[in-house]
Amino acid sequence: MSTTPHGTERGPSELKSPAQVCPFCSGTGWKPEGNGVVRCIHGTPGTEHRAPVSTIPAHEIPIGAHELRRRVDAWLRAGRGPGYTFLEQAEKSLLALLQSHLGQAAAASLDSLARALEAALGRQVTDRTLKKLVHDLRVTHGIKVGSLRGWKRQPRALGGKLTSEGPRGYFLCLTAQDVLATVGTRLHEALATLEVVDSLTDGRLGLKKMLAEARGQLKLFGRSAA
Ligand SMILES: [Zn+2]
Repeated sequence: MSTTPHGTERGPSELKSPAQVCPFCSGTGWKPEGNGVVRCIHGTPGTEHRAPVSTIPAHEIPIGAHELRRRVDAWLRAGRGPGYTFLEQAEKSLLALLQSHLGQAAAASLDSLARALEAALGRQVTDRTLKKLVHDLRVTHGIKVGSLRGWKRQPRALGGKLTSEGPRGYFLCLTAQDVLATVGTRLHEALATLEVVDSLTDGRLGLKKMLAEARGQLKLFGRSAA
């Protein structure tokens, strides 16, 4: 995978994946242009290096387990995530592990994932490292990694402490419910924080409308997930 032949003999139509070299300049840096076309970053205005792509599928939901596994295979083969971004070795290894944990019922605990990743990479993997990798899979690559935090906040009368109950860990989302389980708590926390900000700034940041909209959209998202 590291060495590539000169791209001059192949036409753009033969380029099956942006992980391959640019047929014009042998570069491997691509930007999606939409409509299944990518543009090589080395092209110049007027002489863009364009090539069709079709093999970097998105992480859509809902999706069947078999189809998601097939898509993860495609990302691993191409060495790129759905956002056409390069997957680093640790990201690939984690993705390969998550391929066995599809849907929230199959969540893998943070600890078991960290140990499995250590075995795959041959080096220490801290919780922080794992969380950073998950963040990058989600944000940089557009892969819907779900997570259950497995804790609840006690009623204020009982001290308002966080208690750990229920499943926790990471998984790849198959359904909108998987996404909702992941974002629900976080969004409520984020909204609560913004409410405080809104209150302390006397509404000058105009957050109230945004808060109301976000709440409404979350409800709609939950309903469409049902
Ligand atoms: Zn090029």
